[in-house]
Amino acid sequence: MPELFKNYINGEWVSRTQTFENRNPANTEELVGTFVKGAAQDVEDAASAAAAALPAWSTMAGPARGAILYKAADILDRKFEQIAAEMTREEGKTFPEAKGEVRRAINIFRYFAGEGSRMPGMLVPSERDRVHMFALRKPIGVVGLITPWNFPSAIPAWKMAPALICGNTVIVKPASAAPLSAWRIVEALHEAGIPKGVVNFVAGSGGELGNALVNAAPLKAVSFTGSCEIGNWLHAEASKRRLRIQLEMGGKNPTIVLADADFNSAVENVVNAAFFSTGQKCTATSRAIVEDAIYDRFVAAVVERTKKLRVGDGMQAGIEIGPCVDQSQMETDLRYIEIGRKESGEPLCGGGRLTEGALAKGYFVEPTVFADVEEAHTIAREEIFGPVLAIMRARDFEDAMRIANNIPFGLSSSIQSTNLSRVFEYIYRAEAGLLTVNLPSAGVEYQLPFGGSKESSFGPKEQGPAALEFYSDYKTVYLKY
Ligand code: NAP
Repeated sequence: MPELFKNYINGEWVSRTQTFENRNPANTEELVGTFVKGAAQDVEDAASAAAAALPAWSTMAGPARGAILYKAADILDRKFEQIAAEMTREEGKTFPEAKGEVRRAINIFRYFAGEGSRMPGMLVPSERDRVHMFALRKPIGVVGLITPWNFPSAIPAWKMAPALICGNTVIVKPASAAPLSAWRIVEALHEAGIPKGVVNFVAGSGGELGNALVNAAPLKAVSFTGSCEIGNWLHAEASKRRLRIQLEMGGKNPTIVLADADFNSAVENVVNAAFFSTGQKCTATSRAIVEDAIYDRFVAAVVERTKKLRVGDGMQAGIEIGPCVDQSQMETDLRYIEIGRKESGEPLCGGGRLTEGALAKGYFVEPTVFADVEEAHTIAREEIFGPVLAIMRARDFEDAMRIANNIPFGLSSSIQSTNLSRVFEYIYRAEAGLLTVNLPSAGVEYQLPFGGSKESSFGPKEQGPAALEFYSDYKTVYLKY
């Protein structure tokens, strides 16, 4: 009998009569769990609890807060395999990918736990005699954290851990398509002894809970990762109340492949970035911009490699590509593939749903490659968030740079080249917040700032030392002695 996962408010597991199902996208007959569907009142209760918990939590010594985060990381580590398997079952990514993500979430908790003993402020010499001046960090208060389904453990971790270590109290609203991974983190914090009200978790429809969250009186800040549509709406609402806000949203990420690239590794990197995690990474490559001199050979090699990808249930050994997260995302992918057919011609591989045998029970889409895609084509301009790659021809490096930057988004970008001068030209001119060189465009670590530019992002960066900038404020002190 699948478990009922309740909301967590003021240190208690809270139920309601309304629930929603979390089903395995690789086999929709499998129920992963049933979740309590939160209501606006739950968000208000969570906000009140978070406000009440704030004075004690924000004045607790940083290393003591860190000790709780370390303990939560240890609890997650003990359940590592179980939590990774649950992630594969709720989101669809392969078991090795899920293990990588859970490991990252644990590392994020340990990294920010350590910040509790550092919490760097500023100390500078005064121009005045016998004046000691410094700035210390203080928390901002109650923070709302809204997360998407595609990294259901890492993204909640990289918002919760820095928020908590800075002394804030939080309300977490996970994505309805994959709430269990975030729930496990909250469970670990509960078991680690986090004081009541410091962490609150309310699952349920974003449309219904979002309004209550952004208008909850005690709220001081919102950190959101998800679509541009919802992010832009949240920004408008939050601005009315002058809430601090951080938005990480969509992308249409390019990989430039120059004729001087290490050919085989460029092919692997593009295929990996386009199709692994079913193309459902915000940093996935959806446009490969290839220099004319190697274009035909590169397209042929990408198609050959793509055809060999093994699609199926991510819990099975050897599977490289899992299902789309849900029916709606699968339908979006298939709709864009049809648009691609009309505008760019027949795909060179893939192009449909996979329904053979057990695949019929899931939301599987073939990894699909379109070539000769032009800048004006829809599949070169709009985010699909699925296993669909558009290959575009560039005359030379300058033309490739122009095509790569000629897009409203600016999340991640990649170049494959062995020419150092061009690589540096690219680094300085690429319009994106995350760049990779001779690596897939996707695959980031937690020790450096994360986030995009242009319409992809708004506000301070996440992760690494930069995360403290969003989750804390400075208090500046001048002291005459
Ligand atoms: P989404 O539909 O925008 O949902 C994101 C979160 O917002 C979910 O928890 C959702 O809840 C909630 N939500 C929905 N309507 C809301 C409202 N009116 N007010 C407040 N919250 C609301 O995005 P998604 O489909 O989960 O994720 C895919 C998108 O995320 C893609 O565009 C991808 O590029 C982006 N993404 C960006 C990054 C990055 O770092 N830039 C990372 C990962 C993903 P429900 O699930 O209940 O609807």
